[in-house]
Amino acid sequence: MSWMGILGCDELAVQFARANRRGRLGGSFLFVGPSGVGKRTFAFALAKTLLCRRHFAKIGEGLVVAPDERDENLSDAEELERFVPCEECESCRQFNLHDESETVVMPNHPDFHYVCKPAERSLLPVSLLVGDPDDRMQSGLCFELNQTAFLGGRKVAVIDDADYFNQEGANALLKTLEEPPEHTIIVLIGTSATKQLPTIRSRCQIFRFAPLAQTQVADLLMRQKKVESQEIAEQVARYANGSMTEAYRALDSDFTLFQRSLVNALANRRIEAVELAKQVIEHVDKVSKEAIVRRPRLQNVLRSALAFYRAIFATNARVDRDLAALADKARNNGFQEETAIKCAERTLTALEQIDLNANLPYIIESWLYEIAAIVRKQ
Ligand SMILES: [Zn+2]
Repeated sequence: MSWMGILGCDELAVQFARANRRGRLGGSFLFVGPSGVGKRTFAFALAKTLLCRRHFAKIGEGLVVAPDERDENLSDAEELERFVPCEECESCRQFNLHDESETVVMPNHPDFHYVCKPAERSLLPVSLLVGDPDDRMQSGLCFELNQTAFLGGRKVAVIDDADYFNQEGANALLKTLEEPPEHTIIVLIGTSATKQLPTIRSRCQIFRFAPLAQTQVADLLMRQKKVESQEIAEQVARYANGSMTEAYRALDSDFTLFQRSLVNALANRRIEAVELAKQVIEHVDKVSKEAIVRRPRLQNVLRSALAFYRAIFATNARVDRDLAALADKARNNGFQEETAIKCAERTLTALEQIDLNANLPYIIESWLYEIAAIVRKQ
């Protein structure tokens, strides 16, 4: 089963369901995990559920569960079954989670608040939390959370991009995190717990989100109608590293085309390393000069090369038809398994260099020059 159709989050949902039913839900949470694994989707669905009248009536009335039912022992499946929005109360009717195409949208509910880092800023502006300098604590998220709930029930805030707090922003939030206004739930979303300031980390209950399984990525691509066939879904999922963000990136048609021409070039016995390096650099630079975008793009390029080499030496590896055909052709042209293993190792080194923040053009050039030399020597 998957809670509200969100893959891979059932265990976390059970914890929230049980704590809420027993009236022991905390106020401040920190969700961490790689991008594109469902943290935001989960936070939005959680917000809708916690705001629903079935799970919290109104201030003064509070929890709907009768005291003797709170201690009842329910199985995980029973918890999840009960912990869903009713879709009928005034709160549910105002909280749209999806649009017609089942894509998660930004909820528009008077007691739901969302803050994130604007794309053009490098940090989360402190004014979003506590208002402008000459208007401190008269606007911003902390101010909003101190007001009475519009619908008289709970308030939920989601603070995205928590990796990008500066000290001032973090300080502004500390008091609110430590003692959230009554019936207020605050969810911070970041990529890893270590990236959060210790003062923030220590005030939140931390929930970790794992990368999705390859099959889950493929399932989601199919469900969202992003691909035409299961085969393409599986092919894209192999490059996605368990992240939907990566999957969407790999889906970009420009990437698929480039990947094909690159693998074709790598299958040759003579690799024009200088020219090929130029093409890879251009491809990686095309989307943006921002390292944050270029790095995953290069990772995808290297992963497609790796998939090709694996298809040569691991003949039982599951690969798509195009790649298998190319690998066959390369083998028939005398491309040795041993050479493919060496090339795969060199490609893994290049992937590690990306994690170490090495200069991207340097990684690309040294990778292709050495690959060309390895292939020439066989
Ligand atoms: Zn409801």
